[in-house]
Amino acid sequence: MQTYVYTHGMAIQPIRLFGDPVLRTPAAPVETFDKELRKLVKDLTETMMDAPGAGLAAPQIGVSLRVFTYWVDEEPGHLINPDLDLSDEIMEGEEGCLSLPDLAFETPRSRRVVAKGMNMHGEPVVIEGTELLSRAIQHETDHLDGILFIDRLDPEVRKEAMRQIREAEWFGEPAPAVKISPHTISSRWM
Ligand code: ZN
Repeated sequence: MQTYVYTHGMAIQPIRLFGDPVLRTPAAPVETFDKELRKLVKDLTETMMDAPGAGLAAPQIGVSLRVFTYWVDEEPGHLINPDLDLSDEIMEGEEGCLSLPDLAFETPRSRRVVAKGMNMHGEPVVIEGTELLSRAIQHETDHLDGILFIDRLDPEVRKEAMRQIREAEWFGEPAPAVKISPHTISSRWM
């Protein structure tokens, strides 16, 4: 993972935490591909790289629009109004979320995804991914539907997740102006 250096003019946004209603609100499709949208993609990319995370969805910075960014294999990208075609084959693997800091759980996901959508210029794009890219795209698209990765856990794992959330130091705190702690550099935070 490359090192990200903060420079003047970057617009890193506070990341909304579990408990914030915006994370449970289905996001609206993007209809206008303008300068504001390109600024949103830039803010998402910078906030994701600062975290650092493998992906970030607009609701995680308080914007209820169907936009997400990803950062896998040092290659940042974004997708708007995604529509996913998922493989039946399932993969296991640990997953975490920047909106639920420091927690990670075995989360089943489709192994392969074909994601259709638009780029920030309103041009159609198709992204095909397996492994971490597939996981990130599914995780971020879930965010746009108000779904969190803990909703995808097997029942026993979910029970343990809820216990750890209740005990987490950030749980029930008002939204912080700055993130509570720097995250370990890891590819599984999204
Ligand atoms: Zn997430």
